[in-house]
Formats: sequence, structure tokens, C-alpha cells
Amino acid sequence: MQLLKEKVLNEGIVLSNQVLKVDSFLNHQMDPVLMKEVGKEFKRLFADQSIDRVLTIESSGIAPGIMTALELEVPLIFARKQKSLTLREDIFVEKVYSFTKQETNEITVSRKFIQPGERVLIVDDFLANGEAAFGLARIVEQAGAEVAGIGIVIEKAFQPGGRLLKEAGYRVESLVRVAALDNGMVTFAE
Ligand code: 5GP
Repeated sequence: MQLLKEKVLNEGIVLSNQVLKVDSFLNHQMDPVLMKEVGKEFKRLFADQSIDRVLTIESSGIAPGIMTALELEVPLIFARKQKSLTLREDIFVEKVYSFTKQETNEITVSRKFIQPGERVLIVDDFLANGEAAFGLARIVEQAGAEVAGIGIVIEKAFQPGGRLLKEAGYRVESLVRVAALDNGMVTFAE
């Protein structure tokens, strides 16, 4: 997605050869015009899928998630992150190791918001090792629902998440794929 590539080039800050900061349009300040285009693009990419709900994870997935859900005219659910949890029967729980915070969180979704047989599109802001996306997919599967696809705004293609998700049989569509973050510079794949 050309508009997103330009935004990453002009405003992305390379924090290390592993981490890209995009707090001017996605992770702190959010660009609603760009997010609207992100929603349209995910709708176009998954046009061949029937989708009942969009699922993301708080907080940075919510902006691309809600715009995608708006385009598809389906509800958005965001998984909540919690440090530790007393056992409850009304929620789905999965453990997810956070790449940026380097800690394990439990992510939860209320059972009432995903029904068996539904087709769920997972959306997230970044893809690194695939921990967040796999955790969300496990929640969908716990519910007896099906993952219709995984839409990622920025995939860091030098990390294994994209490959692992595809090997596990998921369809992954990334709007931009970053090949490297070396010497303070962003290089795109293909
Ligand atoms: P994964 O779970 O695939 O290892 O990492 C993806 C999650 O970590 C995303 O939800 C995102 O919030 C965060 N993340 C991973 N890499 C980056 C990065 O380079 N920049 C930012 N801003 N967030 C990242």
C-alpha cells in the first residue's frame, strides 16, 4: 500500500534493527484518513471471504480494526490484556508474549462475543514473531469459530511471524512488508 509506505518512510523512527516506532500515525497519534484507507484495503484483500466479526488486541490494533469493521459492516472485538487473572467461565483466555514489552500477558475475550461457526478476521498493527496473532487465532478456535484471515498493517518480514502463520495454514495479508531496519533505515520487501 503506497500511501502507507510513504508514511512509514517519512515518519517512521527506527529504534533498533528490530523495532520501528510509528507513533505519529498509528501507535499514539492516529491518522484517521490513513486508517480509513487501511480499512478499505483490508476489505478489498478479503473480499472473497465471508466475515462475521473483526478481532484485534488492545490498544494499537483498535484503530485499523474499527476501520476494517466499519468497511465490512460487522462488529469489532478487541481482546483485553491482563497481567494475571482469576479463573472465570465467561471468558476465553490465552497467554501471549509481548514482543515490545518482553512480558507475558493473558489476553481475554468475553465468550458472548464469538459464536461457534462464525468467520473471524484478525487485524493487528504489527507482525513480528506472530505471538499476538497466534493468541487471537487460538481464541477464535476455542470459540469453535474459524479464522477467515489475518490482516496486518506493518509486517516485519525479517522476523518469523508471517512464515509461521502461513505454515500453520492461515492466510496473511500485510499492507506493507519491511525487509530490514538496518543502519537506521527502513527497507521494504519486494
Ligand atoms: P508479535 O506478537 O507478532 O511478536 O508482535 C506483534 C505485536 O507487538 C503487535 O501487536 C505490536 O503491538 C507489537 N510490535 C511488534 N513489533 C513492533 C514494532 O516494531 N513496533 C511497534 N510499534 N510495535 C511492535
